[in-house]
Amino acid sequence: MARDYDAIIVGAGMVGALSAVLLARQGMSVALIDRHDGRYALSVPPAYDARVSAISRHSQQLLSEAGAWQRIDSTRLAAYQKMRVWDGLGQGEVDFDCAQTALPDLGHLVENNVLCQGLMDAVQDTRGVDLFLSDMVTEQQRVNGRVEVTLASDRQLSGQVLIAADGARSQMRDQFGFNMVEWDYGHHAIVTTVQVDRSHQDTAWQAFGDEGILAFLPLPSVNDEHFISIVWSVPPMEAEALMALSDEAFCQRLTYAISERFNAMCLTVPRQAIPLRQRHAKQYIQENVVLIGDAAHTIHPLAGQGANLGFGDVGDLVAILTKAFKRGEDLGSMMVLRRYQRARIIENVLMSASMETFKRVFTTTQPAIVQLRNTAMKLAQSSAFIRNKLVAHASGIK
Ligand SMILES: Cc1cc2nc3c(=O)[nH]c(=O)nc-3n(C[C@H](O)[C@H](O)[C@H](O)COP(=O)(O)OP(=O)(O)OC[C@H]3O[C@@H](n4cnc5c(N)ncnc54)[C@H](O)[C@@H]3O)c2cc1C
Repeated sequence: MARDYDAIIVGAGMVGALSAVLLARQGMSVALIDRHDGRYALSVPPAYDARVSAISRHSQQLLSEAGAWQRIDSTRLAAYQKMRVWDGLGQGEVDFDCAQTALPDLGHLVENNVLCQGLMDAVQDTRGVDLFLSDMVTEQQRVNGRVEVTLASDRQLSGQVLIAADGARSQMRDQFGFNMVEWDYGHHAIVTTVQVDRSHQDTAWQAFGDEGILAFLPLPSVNDEHFISIVWSVPPMEAEALMALSDEAFCQRLTYAISERFNAMCLTVPRQAIPLRQRHAKQYIQENVVLIGDAAHTIHPLAGQGANLGFGDVGDLVAILTKAFKRGEDLGSMMVLRRYQRARIIENVLMSASMETFKRVFTTTQPAIVQLRNTAMKLAQSSAFIRNKLVAHASGIK
């Protein structure tokens, strides 16, 4: 006999866990399934984890509503007040500063494991969420207007709607036969944590140029020692060569690539190279099934927006399902789910298209394009209006 829920969420990563808490807080019964055991290995600073995310102010708001933000140890959060972007092949440079806006900061950097643990703790304290950890879906079918799943543990669950939040390689998306548009970005992202010789000034630094796309993201300083998370996106052959360097030689390349604004002293965690693919589901919904987060779309990390887009999905989906729940509508009906698709697909497609354009424009060495992008950066630097618009967009403030 299947246990009944309003929503079954597959995937308790950042996006799935946030959805579970927010839906349950609105009175819906939720089953949350993940193959993970829900315990994240937290590194000890300054050996900050290599996987870090820039969280926008809008995402922070949602995480606070779920009670997850408050559970994150504040010494693991780095607010960044400024952002400096420059073109290594020209003089183009743009500075963003929260002091020129009404915002206290432009966002926060947090390790993925720290954020996921905060969310998992919030899930465990939320009435209305049943957790099925170290488990996964082995069978799924639609029965009498509901969706039924069988888990590896043999348990059977039934829900009005199944929310697939099982990440970029979503098994649920494939099982239900959603079509995707996807291609390789021709980039691998090298991520690690670096100790640098001077303060990062609570600033996120980003260089574009023939050294690839390099983000230097501030992490909390410890005993006046300064640490930075890097995301360095380069073509696969270049990534292979960078991964093969000794730590010392890698730090020298890094110092050169960041135009010696910092001296990269040493790595505090091993490097990881992550192949980057753009993916977008052609449809986010089917009867009783909906895709959110990386299961629906993945983008280039150059603007640090992937998880923020996923949190945006959560905000809109929770608002739409809550309204439908209060009206007594079927949460899995196409009528309800279409409202979510309409709310999200244009914003997500536009963000994906912008990342593709940025990637192309900022990695070419064609003189005409290099000149054009430097002109655009100078224009943005001279116009507070343009800069404020860009900040508002990146913060997710509508
Ligand atoms: C190098 C890099 C840097 C990035 N930087 C940023 C940034 O600065 N800011 C930002 O907003 N975004 C960033 N992103 C994007 C961000 O990491 C992702 O968008 C985000 O982690 C997606 O969260 P998710 O919950 O949708 O998926 P995931 O984090 O992949 O979670 C999926 C969950 O589903 C579970 N799961 C998977 N398959 C199954 C299954 N079959 N059964 C049960 N459970 C399953 C997994 O265990 C996991 O818990 C970056 C990405 C990369 C690659």
